[in-house]
Amino acid sequence: MTEQAIVKRRATGVMLGHYPYHYCGLCGKQIHWITTARWKKMPCELQLQQGNGKMTLVTNDGRVIVKAGPDVCGYEPHFGHCEEYKKLKKPNGGNNG
Ligand SMILES: [Zn+2]
Repeated sequence: MTEQAIVKRRATGVMLGHYPYHYCGLCGKQIHWITTARWKKMPCELQLQQGNGKMTLVTNDGRVIVKAGPDVCGYEPHFGHCEEYKKLKKPNGGNNG
């Protein structure tokens, strides 16, 4: 990353581990990026959520928790909320409930 890019990031008031807010390229909804523990960037919802035992959450420190319980707070991956993404990813006979 260039020095200029770092300065630019600081200027946008980015929190540690978070990337600046972006808009989903598919549906145009505002999202933000969290870098997961595996250095993969994950587009996430803006709203911090508490787990309900069913949802997948990405925590602030980049852990992806599947079936996050009430003891977990994090952000839902945007893919699960993106209607356009769901259209792209058509089910092919599978039973994804
Ligand atoms: Zn989207």
